[in-house]
Amino acid sequence: MRLELDSVGLRYGPVTALSDVTLTVATGTTAAVIGANGAGKSSLLRAIAGLEPLAAGRIVADGADLARLDTEARIRLGIALSPEGRRLFPEMSAADNLRAGAFTRRAGPAVRRDLDRVYTLFPRLAERRASLARNLSGGEQQMCAIGRAVMSEPQLLLLDEPSLGLAPKVVGDMARAIATIAASGVTVLLAEQNSRLALSLAQTGHVFEAGRLARSGPAAALLNDGDVLRAYLGEE
Ligand code: ATP
Repeated sequence: MRLELDSVGLRYGPVTALSDVTLTVATGTTAAVIGANGAGKSSLLRAIAGLEPLAAGRIVADGADLARLDTEARIRLGIALSPEGRRLFPEMSAADNLRAGAFTRRAGPAVRRDLDRVYTLFPRLAERRASLARNLSGGEQQMCAIGRAVMSEPQLLLLDEPSLGLAPKVVGDMARAIATIAASGVTVLLAEQNSRLALSLAQTGHVFEAGRLARSGPAAALLNDGDVLRAYLGEE
């Protein structure tokens, strides 16, 4: 799925979270969204998922303006969000959380095949499938949240801070899983505080500052850019 944002603005009452954001994510590519706390990364993903109304501009997916589509309609169109904080159903098993991700689909062989795909992607989740979500570790919960999004058969996957709070080894597993999903042809928009991780998984990068797009470019170029290195990659 090709994603286009045209002069997008978003406000929470008096607070401007996004202004004049214009960017394109080409079909089948991964784009990193980086920037400091509060730069607007989550707001961007939530707006695309239909969880926040726009104050200005438009969002277009494969040529269709999303303005009139609510979140469920966007999921049916192929847009799935793995939200910051995971937002699992705590009293449901990992497996049932994953099945909940397929709520727009008819139960059947295709859903069972995708469940197997998620377990192949995250073998640890297969072992923990019967556990209540609230009893999963942070890493397992993150896998479950991403798996739940995958269960809706997305063509555009929005990942909000998938590495947040994870142990370094688990971050590596997560990165490999995201790369596998991306290699299957899904367009991925990856918002991360871990800028290096996000840029290393992406073809393009978008740097946000106070709700505005400060820089866009090839991920490899941003990874080698002195200003970006100093501001977002913790290097002198
Ligand atoms: P973080 O990494 O902390 O999630 P972010 O880059 O994702 O940061 P957003 O969460 O999108 O940034 O926040 C953008 C701006 O909007 C910030 O100034 C934030 O304080 C504000 N904001 C976010 N959500 C709300 C809300 N529900 N009500 C009011 N202001 C909000």
